Amino acid sequence: MDRRAFLAALGAATVASHLPLRGSDAAASGRITLLHTNDTHSRIEPFGPGNGNLSGLGGMARRGTLVKQLRQQLGPVLLLDAGDTFQGTPYFNRYQGRLDYQLMRMVGYDAGTLGNHDFDNGVDLLVEAMASMEQLKHPNPPFSFVNCNFDFKGAPALGKRVRPYLIREFPGLRVGLTGVGVAFAGLVAPKNHEGIGWRDPYESLRPVVQRLRDVEKVDLVVVLSHLGYNLNGSAPDDLQMPGRVPGIDAIIGGHSHTFLETPTRVAQARGETLVAQVGFGGVNLGRMDFALARGAVRAASGAAIQLVG
Ligand SMILES: [Zn+2]
Repeated sequence: MDRRAFLAALGAATVASHLPLRGSDAAASGRITLLHTNDTHSRIEPFGPGNGNLSGLGGMARRGTLVKQLRQQLGPVLLLDAGDTFQGTPYFNRYQGRLDYQLMRMVGYDAGTLGNHDFDNGVDLLVEAMASMEQLKHPNPPFSFVNCNFDFKGAPALGKRVRPYLIREFPGLRVGLTGVGVAFAGLVAPKNHEGIGWRDPYESLRPVVQRLRDVEKVDLVVVLSHLGYNLNGSAPDDLQMPGRVPGIDAIIGGHSHTFLETPTRVAQARGETLVAQVGFGGVNLGRMDFALARGAVRAASGAAIQLVG
């Protein structure tokens, strides 16, 4: 379907359901579910025996089945990842991330961000993994990467594949997605992030979130963060972010491998921000549900779903 036909179809569906076409309308309202993972670390298969209480949990096939079921049951869904897809099993050593990204496309991810381990084989192999995912023949479109605090001037092949933010539009609802990554120092060997600069995540987020709100007129702002849950003030983290960057509704976190059964609610000037993170290794799928009316969140809730056979 071309763009015009798609918009016409969307318009028809919108009229039929009496929902406004654009979230920027004063009467914008709707529901959306965010499904999310973080730090999956090349856990293609479930954890094998001998892994304590993780034994038998997780696995990409199981995740794909659950996502498919939820997409059939629910309204609009976005499937998101907070980085560190790479490193952790022989699958990574053998396929260098190509398999992880290809399977993520097959499972139906919409967007992800970059963690420190995603640079473990250097920029060129990271780009190769992204390119292999783009070239896959599959009905699902390639998923997108978002980050607003890396400066890719010296790494254009990667830069053209990572956007500072993106918008996803649903009938009656516009969602803005952006992402932030942790500082390289002490985590990524200098030759593996050659050409990429790191900037303060809060300072980088502020103008992006403001643009999403004021120019792009989104109804919901979601940050994919690979900073970590709580660094007690020693570095930027997810818990401090809502107080430092106005206008964020949801933070999907990673890096600290923190398992939150339900998202932490952090009060901020506009209301509250939900901060989520679901452990590591694909053992859980996170879920957050938002009900919006007149461009503002009216109700939000979330929970981790354990991936058990
Ligand atoms: Zn990790």
